[in-house]
Amino acid sequence: MQRGHVPIRTCRGCGRRAPKRELVRLVLRQGRLIEDPEQTMDGRGAYCCPDDTCRQRFMNNRKILRLAFRNSSSLSATTLP
Ligand SMILES: [Zn+2]
Repeated sequence: MQRGHVPIRTCRGCGRRAPKRELVRLVLRQGRLIEDPEQTMDGRGAYCCPDDTCRQRFMNNRKILRLAFRNSSSLSATTLP
């Protein structure tokens, strides 16, 4: 195991790149976006800064959501703002 290797993820809200553990993982479950605090849930996840501004920006932006979950069939138009 390599020491000092940190997985980097991009925040979908602001585009900042940060170590995975500094970001919140959001998973799409039955058409709803939920938090995955343990970062272990199945399914397509997206990462976001743990602050409300970024989270709101991500959750309320249909374009970003589509991009993040474009292959997910559970993302229905009705659940999006
Ligand atoms: Zn952010």
